[in-house]
Amino acid sequence: MVSAFKNSWITFKSIFTGMGVTIRHFFGPSVTLQYPDERAVLPKDTRAKLYVNIDDCIGCNLCARACPVNCIDIETVVATSDVDLGKTSTGNPKRFWLTRFDIDMAKCMYCDLCVHPCPTFCIYMVPEYEYSEYDRTNLIYHFSNLEPAMVAEVKEKAEKEAAEKQRQREEMMRKKAEEAKIKQMEAKKKAEENNSGENDAQSSKPENGDP
Ligand code: SF4
Ligand code: SF4
Repeated sequence: MVSAFKNSWITFKSIFTGMGVTIRHFFGPSVTLQYPDERAVLPKDTRAKLYVNIDDCIGCNLCARACPVNCIDIETVVATSDVDLGKTSTGNPKRFWLTRFDIDMAKCMYCDLCVHPCPTFCIYMVPEYEYSEYDRTNLIYHFSNLEPAMVAEVKEKAEKEAAEKQRQREEMMRKKAEEAKIKQMEAKKKAEENNSGENDAQSSKPENGDP
């Protein structure tokens, strides 16, 4: 009997507590936003979507290396000696073409770890959250602004220049090896001449020590 009263009291207390909250909000100001006509003002530093200002990217790969889920995919091609890619707005020299800079936002976990190592502050979160897609592949964002033809061209030029530099390196090493061989032969010849001189001097001396 006592426990029945106790249970009834707990039940009514719970109902009145819940209703109290409902009534308080019923007469208070509305907190529901009529989305999409109304939108929440997001707090500063909201992590909603990554953005890359590709003009300021130097292709250092630090962001990709910091990402714990490998959702940043960067491909760079070194600029050939006839090209000056200029500098970023932070004054860093640009030495690489960014032939690919993809971020898979479907994999991203919004940890912000890629943002902090960037030396030019060109990768950052933007407060944009309305980017749902039916197809996951549409969540791979391509930030490189090079056309495929340009990508092919810069790759070809870079390969040619790298091959030429390799050829020059090999030529230089070959010349050095030849020079070293010539020096070695000269040193050997000189040593042989010195030895034969010493032998002649010894053979011209009488065996009993008389002059
Ligand atoms: S926010 Fe985190 S998970 Fe997303 S790309 Fe950057 S490092 Fe990777
Ligand atoms: S860390 Fe910054 S500069 Fe380096 S590759 Fe990433 S976005 Fe570009």
